[in-house]
Amino acid sequence: MTDCLFCRIVAGEIPADIVAETDTVIAFRDIAPKAPLHVLVVPRSHLENVAEVAAADPKLLADMAALAQGIADTECGGQYRWIFNTGAEAGQSVFHAHGHVLGGAPLGWEPA
Ligand code: 5GP
Repeated sequence: MTDCLFCRIVAGEIPADIVAETDTVIAFRDIAPKAPLHVLVVPRSHLENVAEVAAADPKLLADMAALAQGIADTECGGQYRWIFNTGAEAGQSVFHAHGHVLGGAPLGWEPA
């Protein structure tokens, strides 16, 4: 999808600080980090949100989880939060599925 920001990052058209990738998933650092570790784990295929990923291909969601865990293991001792904002009201601003991997410091809990 040419007008999708994350599709353009996946395609290499927009630069990103890529930390890990597989044939199905790519992970890159968030441009506006909310924690010392803030990486976005993104399926290469264009699916709008995590529910669409799960419905389309459960193995793809498992691939995303494995990559998130591996990054957290490497960068912050395996302790992390994995968030999927779903819908504008929940804070989703990019409508290509992505899990936020947050860690590297004690995290608060203030969703609203
Ligand atoms: P959402 O708000 O959809 O849950 O998350 C989108 C995330 O993408 C935000 O945390 C935002 O900072 C990040 N983001 C937006 N534009 C870019 C960009 O061009 N590059 C990178 N690496 N992250 C971006």
